[in-house]
Amino acid sequence: MITGRCDHCDWRALAGSHPKMVQLYQNHLRADHPRAWLRG
Ligand SMILES: [Zn+2]
Repeated sequence: MITGRCDHCDWRALAGSHPKMVQLYQNHLRADHPRAWLRG
């Protein structure tokens, strides 16, 4: 399992693969940090 965390808050997540983690993190950014998400 891969652990991920957010640079902007205390969000953490577990994913089975790196691409899955990227997807989870992008979803989190889009939902909670839209400005950071737009910036990429
Ligand atoms: Zn966050």
